[in-house]
Amino acid sequence: MNIIAQTKELQPRAASRRGHILVHRVSVEFGEGAKARPAILDTSLEIRPREFVCLLGPSGCGKSTLLNCVAGYVRPSSGTVKVDGIIVDRPGPERGMVFQQYSLFPWKNVRENIAFGPLRAGRRRAQAMAIADHFLEMVGLSGFATRHPAELSGGMQQRVGIARALANYPSVLLMDEPFGALDSQTRAMMQENLLRIWSEFSTTVLFVTHDVDEAIFLADRILVMSASPGRIIADQDVPLARPRNPDISTDHRFIEIKKSCLATIRAESLRAFEQQNR
Ligand code: ADP
Ligand code: MG
Repeated sequence: MNIIAQTKELQPRAASRRGHILVHRVSVEFGEGAKARPAILDTSLEIRPREFVCLLGPSGCGKSTLLNCVAGYVRPSSGTVKVDGIIVDRPGPERGMVFQQYSLFPWKNVRENIAFGPLRAGRRRAQAMAIADHFLEMVGLSGFATRHPAELSGGMQQRVGIARALANYPSVLLMDEPFGALDSQTRAMMQENLLRIWSEFSTTVLFVTHDVDEAIFLADRILVMSASPGRIIADQDVPLARPRNPDISTDHRFIEIKKSCLATIRAESLRAFEQQNR
């Protein structure tokens, strides 16, 4: 594992395709004056078009804050975020977000939830509905178009959430612990499902999780974050073949990567613990 030099200038690689993310020396502080606390500290990262990157770290370390900076919901106190060379200063449909909490409109049916983005982008109604049906099929929920969110299981609602984000044809898909509230079997199925969708709809994915196994199963690359205030302390490649299935978790390379991630996390937890108790 190589440690990223936080202060090093990141040279943007050629962004020939859409979905290039560049986070440059971003810090985020919450609170004012003497109460100001850093949530993210001088963090830089770069993600190539179509790469699947997991942001892994303990709860409260700033994963959501960093993701929200890329989404445009949180403004960095210093530093810049660029997607395809354009500075992010607000949310946009080219950056699709899937939240941990199901965030569908409860009063709209499934098809209308997914068609919302295309309609807002000015598509005609028939076209927006066709787009919705296309993505409903992609997430395997064609039979549920006229149901309302409350009639669906948590896993199904998250699939609708993914379809809703994809219906805007985003260059970047941002996912904040999207399967965190699901039981482990549904979660495993959703992970496989997501990889299949990603292989069809190739887009850059930045996926937040605190689960090491989930990160290794999904990612091309894992960025490990420190305890609060968050910094990236390791950049781990996951050179496992695709398509992947759950058996991969017994592969010796999977286990090696897991050991390496866990060692980084353990060392960081110790450091944070010692710092708190000094
Ligand atoms: P994670 O997603 O890794 O659990 P977060 O990014 O949600 O972590 O939070 C990082 C830190 O920033 C935490 O200490 C949290 O309490 C704080 N924080 C997050 N959002 C806000 C906010 N809107 N106002 C004040 N503090 C916040
Ligand atoms: Mg979070």
